[in-house]
Amino acid sequence: MDLGLKGKKAIVCASSKGLGKGCAMALAQEGVDLVINSRSADMLEATAEEIRKATGVTVTPVACDVTTGEGRAKVLAACPNPDILVNNAGGPPPGDFRDWDRDDWIKALDANMLTPIFLIKATVDGMIERKFGRVVNITSGAVKAPIDILGLSNGARAGLTGFIAGLSRKTVRHNVTINNLLPGAFDTDRLHANMQASANKTGADVGELTKQRAAGIPAGRFGTPDEFGHACAFLCSAHSGFITGQNLLPDGGAFPGTM
Ligand code: NAP
Repeated sequence: MDLGLKGKKAIVCASSKGLGKGCAMALAQEGVDLVINSRSADMLEATAEEIRKATGVTVTPVACDVTTGEGRAKVLAACPNPDILVNNAGGPPPGDFRDWDRDDWIKALDANMLTPIFLIKATVDGMIERKFGRVVNITSGAVKAPIDILGLSNGARAGLTGFIAGLSRKTVRHNVTINNLLPGAFDTDRLHANMQASANKTGADVGELTKQRAAGIPAGRFGTPDEFGHACAFLCSAHSGFITGQNLLPDGGAFPGTM
């Protein structure tokens, strides 16, 4: 299926590895030119080269912290008029809400709520004028089924989800859609770091714990960044103009609800 994206331009935030990289690669395979981003310049350049070699598209790496105003300005300067915006950043740390002060909350809100909102603010009017735009926010399955130790994530991402629910109904008339992708458990460094943290806490064997976690998913395994990327590319496709304000949950069947 041709997704109708050849020659479009995308900003994919937080994309040197993991889910962001999966999205960048899948869009590049559709002929989309990219601005990719992460804080570490070396890994970002290596990822840019890997995508260029695999697909032949133009890939511009912008090394910065996208959760700061300065970082966002750098990303936008490299691609002021994107057709596609994929919002992503690292997730907040786990913990007990009794230990979090105002700064912890502001950091989580900056990274996982306000950064996507400000990037949308900077790009959506151009998309509306050009009558094409696709925004995908990488959030978390925790938006639908909160995870107790991830209170900062549950709170900040739920705030973003509420905002998007309103805005996405205003832009769709202009062929600008905004949707959220809610990852379940995907095989990335972040997932393995979380498994290691759980193992350290309980003294369990990390390999055994990881196996058990994967086995507990109806699919019997973790998702791959490649699968996640293709779900993102589908939401960005030229054929997806009637899908907006949705929360798509790629999780291998883990969420046990009917809807
Ligand atoms: P990952 O494998 O650790 O990759 C994170 C990527 O984001 C890296 O490229 C990292 O590069 C970049 N990054 C982090 N903070 C950044 C910042 N402030 N500015 C720019 N780039 C930044 O993580 P992932 O598993 O792909 O997770 C992506 C998002 O999905 C996170 O918010 C995570 O909480 C959420 N999520 C993941 C899962 C899962 O199973 N994997 C499940 C639910 C939700 P640098 O460190 O060099 O900046």
